[in-house]
Amino acid sequence: SPHNLSPHVLLLALPALGHVNALFHLAKLLSFKGVAITYVCAHHCISILERELHAANSSANALIRLVGLPERVSLGDGHIASSKVFFEVVCGMKDDFMQLVKQQLQIAGGERETQASFAAPSAILSDNFIFWARDVAIAFNLAHYVFFPFSASPLTVMLSLPLLISQGHVPLKSAAEPQLITLPSLPPLWNKDLPTCLHEVDGKAELEWKLTCGFNLIKASTILINTSYEMEANAIEALQSKDGSHQTKQKVLTVGPVLPRDFPNDHRLHSESENPGHTECSRWLNSKNVGSVLYVSFGSIYSLGMEEITELALGLEASSYAFLWVLRQPRSASSKNNNSLLSDLLPEGFQSRLKDRCFISSGWAPQLFILSHPSVGAFLTHCGWNSILESISFGVPLIACPKFAEQHLNCRLIVDQLKIGIELSKDHRGFPSREELETTTRLLMEGEGGRGVKKNVAALKDIIRKSVKKGGSSYENVEAFVHEIFQLSATHSKDESH
Ligand code: UDP
Repeated sequence: SPHNLSPHVLLLALPALGHVNALFHLAKLLSFKGVAITYVCAHHCISILERELHAANSSANALIRLVGLPERVSLGDGHIASSKVFFEVVCGMKDDFMQLVKQQLQIAGGERETQASFAAPSAILSDNFIFWARDVAIAFNLAHYVFFPFSASPLTVMLSLPLLISQGHVPLKSAAEPQLITLPSLPPLWNKDLPTCLHEVDGKAELEWKLTCGFNLIKASTILINTSYEMEANAIEALQSKDGSHQTKQKVLTVGPVLPRDFPNDHRLHSESENPGHTECSRWLNSKNVGSVLYVSFGSIYSLGMEEITELALGLEASSYAFLWVLRQPRSASSKNNNSLLSDLLPEGFQSRLKDRCFISSGWAPQLFILSHPSVGAFLTHCGWNSILESISFGVPLIACPKFAEQHLNCRLIVDQLKIGIELSKDHRGFPSREELETTTRLLMEGEGGRGVKKNVAALKDIIRKSVKKGGSSYENVEAFVHEIFQLSATHSKDESH
């Protein structure tokens, strides 16, 4: 009977790899604790996870079922997708997801037996950008939880939207009109540091989407957030407090960083089949001294413009350090035909001058493996939240070069509050000059300023690793969530038998 089956939760991810991976790590944590998971996302994301799930070969995996939704709106090759496209993709997933929920409820209700190894789902846990998930949960009488894959500062901003709108701060003014914004428990922020989606110049559709998501978050009863309490205690305290500083009263559970379960000893981190390109990259890293390599990557979505690629290349060359650079196709290339050779992207003679001093990866790089390698001494990052969590987890200090979304907020957190990174200043072109790159890299790698930053990140690494171990804050919050799901499912089956 379904009453003896594991409680079952439907997970719904945004089809962007940072989001997909984080929610998948959480899926594995939950399944390991006995919760059955149907993990739903756009088809192309699911095929990536399928490979990983099969390779993982652990008993908990039997409790994870992957479902790929048809792609009614194409994201292209997954990067440089505009927010407008993302918004359409999210809208396009709704009907198929509703069908799926309906079907799952019927199957478990006994109308079809063959696949009925999962109980009827009792809850939906959805990425915060799937703004319609709460309505679907309500329509099917399921509990609803939100997964917020970012830090506490963007959550504070999202939950403060009514305030920001009433004060006239949102839609955001352009950076040319600097405004200081004060929000509960966050240090004062300049408007330029707020999430870029709150600028109307990025397009009305995007702003409306993000506003809808913000107002949905306010209605959510429980938000699981991918951060560690110890990392952002003040902001988390304020989010959880009932003193009315926020207009919201939801439960905020810190469950991060969600990383592979056996992390950092996961053998899959070091396997070629899990990390294509790993062998070559590993051989190169092994040939370098401890802490001598700068890792450079701007994440899975952002692409640099040609001018910035040139400036970055020359800055890295001038710095005299060895570097591993994940260089994607440039933004300006016509989106259909973006297959330029590396030699066409880089300054003339670059590769022959630098030879073995650089390793340039033009595809998907095994980032967790790279950050875990002792040769890596610093990470020049676009400040994507996953990249930051991964870097801290391996004690790698940061050079911050935020680009879009909530990355400027993340930059403030790591530079001003946690003091685990140094920010690159941008010139009139909107990106750092080669001189700035050279001096900042030197400052971090061997300067006085770098010493403090390295000490801080090493300490923070221990703190956040502790939070995901038994007895730690994130570990206990995942336990509490699992407990709630078990109770929920017990109530559900009782209701059904009446
Ligand atoms: N990533 C990777 N290889 C790459 C690029 C990205 O493994 O070549 C992973 C990275 O480890 C991280 C995620 O993709 O987990 C990127 O998420 P993040 O939040 O840092 O940035 P986004 O891609 O969302 O801008």
